[in-house]
Amino acid sequence: MRGLAAALLALAAVLPVRAEDGAARMRRETRGLLKDLVAFDTSNPPGGELPAALYLKGALEAGGVKAGVFTSTGSRASLIARVKGSGRKRPLLLMCHTDVVPADAKGWTTPPFVPTEKEGYLYGRGTEDIKSMCAAQAAVLLRLARERTRLDRDVVFFAEADEETGAAVRHIDWLTKNHGAELDAEFAVNEGGNTLWEGGRPSEMLIQAAEKEYIDVHLTARGSAGHASVPREDNAVLALSEGLRRLGALRWPAELNPVVRASFAYKAASAPEPVRSALEAVLVAAPGTALDEAAARLRSASPELGAMLSDTLTPTVVSGGYKSNVIPAEAKATLNGRMLPGHGVQAFLARIREALSGLPISVEHEFSGRASVPPMPVDNEFVAAAKRHAERLAPGIRVSPFMAVATTDAQDLRARGTLVYGIEPPFPPGDRARMHGDDERILLLALDWHVEHLWALVADVAGARP
Ligand SMILES: [Zn+2]
Repeated sequence: MRGLAAALLALAAVLPVRAEDGAARMRRETRGLLKDLVAFDTSNPPGGELPAALYLKGALEAGGVKAGVFTSTGSRASLIARVKGSGRKRPLLLMCHTDVVPADAKGWTTPPFVPTEKEGYLYGRGTEDIKSMCAAQAAVLLRLARERTRLDRDVVFFAEADEETGAAVRHIDWLTKNHGAELDAEFAVNEGGNTLWEGGRPSEMLIQAAEKEYIDVHLTARGSAGHASVPREDNAVLALSEGLRRLGALRWPAELNPVVRASFAYKAASAPEPVRSALEAVLVAAPGTALDEAAARLRSASPELGAMLSDTLTPTVVSGGYKSNVIPAEAKATLNGRMLPGHGVQAFLARIREALSGLPISVEHEFSGRASVPPMPVDNEFVAAAKRHAERLAPGIRVSPFMAVATTDAQDLRARGTLVYGIEPPFPPGDRARMHGDDERILLLALDWHVEHLWALVADVAGARP
């Protein structure tokens, strides 16, 4: 055997060895990191992200990247790692979360916490949301360190704990309060984007640049209780009905922010009628009455797009009474609101109270307490670089910013002065339904593309030089 080994070594020495290049190694490491991360069960609740954070710390430090683990309580822990630049510009932050939503193995064809390769896909909880981004981001830092790249700014990797539910004290609140300087950055990449993979390549990249803000509004109408055989003017159910009618008739002023303007211009190019002409009317309307009218037209052509132009408020839960012949003293309703970014809670509630004036209805609300932040600019070097490299790596791809109707933890960093953009790995149509569902998976070729794009974006925005 020894003779054979020696012979093989001698043979290896004379064969031309094709060294793995930096890009190939980065792609291989991304796949390996993702497999390892999926194997940590970080279902939230309870999260328990500490082992995943320690694993990432080990992997990064083995590659010469400085990393720290930040534990808020028990095993709720984030990892922050940094490759230093010259400091000429503020850092660039690569952000993801290591927790996942729980998985019910009964609905899966593979065990959710055993990474399984099948037909070019990697199956496992977190492959879509969003350990795939953690793996790509860690691999980019490892490559920066390995190639001893000179940078104009620090590149920081932030693998966040507790994004999916929010513990009693949100981990991100604790982290920004106690270690906020670690997360200081001019630009950041986060989840929340939407990139489509069609026909073996990425066909569309939507960059998330704004989020509507979520609020629940609770109404309580009060009146005299009594027997239903004796009708009264001050009936709580009637008061609540009138209140809901008025709120339903409320017309929120239309506003076209720069992110929605860009996304509408993009959509108008391919939308079918009558949506296309409704979008075009919005794009040319002057703010005020003309825009309000164009928004109403768009709402009837496409409720989804119409909702992008104003705050919205939708009744979802109604309750009151307990017996058919008894007038209840109270009737309640809950409405779900989505506020345009930067609008703030107070103006929103003031409109509701004004609409309900004169009615015996009290108004309460539940809101995250996050600071309200305006939409991100869409005309800076970061967005331009993201678009340019997507077009270079996937010729023919269509790229546009968009506003999401749900919130992510990007808002916490935006409120601290970081310009955060959502850019996700590409997924084939239909695969997004698996996120938070069964048989979550990622196409490995799409993961390769994502890390190539991220590398190019980071190298460009951080001014990388060998
Ligand atoms: Zn997520």
